[in-house]
Amino acid sequence: IHVDVMDGHFVPVITLGPAITQAVGRFTGLPLDVHLMISEPARYAEAFAKAGAHVLTFHWEVAPSVEEARVVIQAFRDAGVEKVGISVNPDTCQEPLAELFDEVDLILVMSVFPGFGGQKFIVEVLDKVRWLRAAGYEGWIEMDGGVNAETIASCAEAGTDVFVAGSAIFGAEDIPGTIEGFRATATERMHV
Ligand code: ZN
Repeated sequence: IHVDVMDGHFVPVITLGPAITQAVGRFTGLPLDVHLMISEPARYAEAFAKAGAHVLTFHWEVAPSVEEARVVIQAFRDAGVEKVGISVNPDTCQEPLAELFDEVDLILVMSVFPGFGGQKFIVEVLDKVRWLRAAGYEGWIEMDGGVNAETIASCAEAGTDVFVAGSAIFGAEDIPGTIEGFRATATERMHV
């Protein structure tokens, strides 16, 4: 279950915080993949760890140097978060992340600009995924934004192995069938 946390500062929209995240966790046995689109992620590490985040991801744009990013990663680890992720926006260069490959469990490549659902998939971001794999990154690569029946195959082929879909699933008539279809396509194309 992917949880999009927005603070009205890093992005214009405010969504939800630790209390709602924790409430979501009470209704599912699934891991909570918490995506912090907030300005001060280290400050809230403990709150989201306590709320039950299994994966906690922050944005490189709010800690845009290897040193600053390391401070956030350490704060997340100190808070007891199991898996730490770092995210880049579509217009952010992913190359500095190479220095952090061994320190994060997941790299989230945004395929739309964060803040609003239902945006069109930016196809150029597939190059970021290919670059990360070519540079030797072996952890999870997650794609978030505009993932749907049309775009999921190329995401998987590029090297993505975690797929976030909101509108494409919640807007479908047959939600379980849609998820099943996405999973089948992604699994098939991941090993092409
Ligand atoms: Zn997200």
